[in-house]
Amino acid sequence: MPIRILPPQLANQIAAGEVVERPASVVKELVENSLDAGAGHIEIDIEKGGSKLIRVRDNGSGIAEQELVLALSRHATSKITDLDDLEAINSLGFRGEALASISSVSRLTLTSKTAEQSAAWQASAAGREMQVDVRPAAHPVGTSIEVLDLFFNTPARRKFMRTDKTEFGHIDELVKRLALSRYDVSWQLTHNGQSVRRLKAAVTDEQRQKRVAMLCGRAFAGQAAFIENRYGDVRIWGWIVQPQACSAQLQCQYSYVNGRMMRDKLLNHAIRQAYGDSLGPEQQPAFVLYLELDPRQVDVNVHPAKHEVRFHQARLIHDFVVSALADALAQLRPVAVAAAAV
Ligand code: ADP
Ligand code: MG
Repeated sequence: MPIRILPPQLANQIAAGEVVERPASVVKELVENSLDAGAGHIEIDIEKGGSKLIRVRDNGSGIAEQELVLALSRHATSKITDLDDLEAINSLGFRGEALASISSVSRLTLTSKTAEQSAAWQASAAGREMQVDVRPAAHPVGTSIEVLDLFFNTPARRKFMRTDKTEFGHIDELVKRLALSRYDVSWQLTHNGQSVRRLKAAVTDEQRQKRVAMLCGRAFAGQAAFIENRYGDVRIWGWIVQPQACSAQLQCQYSYVNGRMMRDKLLNHAIRQAYGDSLGPEQQPAFVLYLELDPRQVDVNVHPAKHEVRFHQARLIHDFVVSALADALAQLRPVAVAAAAV
């Protein structure tokens, strides 16, 4: 066969293979865009576990009419312009691929209005050439993205979707993680028209505690102690549960690096090490922890789905986390495992 350039839709579908694993991955990308756009309120509506409909609506900055076509194009982003920006990422997105990828494997409609515009506009891309069609619409300032029939044109992927219940379970878990990353944002999640989560913006310490209790359970909130520590401009804060109280009911293991949810090996290893051998074989650490550091000190461009980061001073960060958590755990008074409730 001769070498040829793939049509845009096929190229985007290949890229989608890396980022759009299941409906929850779509929700992640859309919500991250809403957060990057400065939204204070995010509504997520799901039908049939996301296989029929995923709709994310925000009150962020919106996208200007003349940029709608670009927003749906691959390698088009408003978040970085040069290598310097890439080395100090302050936004959740930067690859400029999500909307192009998602729209190549679904029927996506983007409706948006900026504060400067008097009217809203809507766009969708279709076909091999991903031709974008732009038309007037009604929408307040902000953006709504509707994703219908995910994977309708990629049967191999569609086959991997599990039951609506399982897929929605992944979405709900993701929304939980995201809601723990931004207390200042109010969230709403519905499934098949039923309200599943409704979280008001949490500003005071008490409101934040309440959100943790709602999302991680009262048992976790009742046992978890607030911790905070700094080393230079590296800061760790959050809640941890002392080893004696770690039980199967306290399944809560959430960590974030500069506001980005993570499954980071280095962090997990450091947390385990801080608990040391005080945990029994059946016990898991329970924590919600936030690590904050200069964005120049972490590389987030490691994985297309951005689940991992690389720390420039990995050893130093690891040892700081171990000692900060070990100190905090040492200061916690042992309490009875059965005690719960806030
Ligand atoms: P990235 O987030 O990596 O830039 P995306 O494909 O996710 O790439 O989005 C492309 C661009 O579309 C973004 O850079 C942003 O300018 C714009 N955009 C996407 N979603 C929103 C939104 N909810 N509000 C405002 N702008 C958005
Ligand atoms: Mg994005």
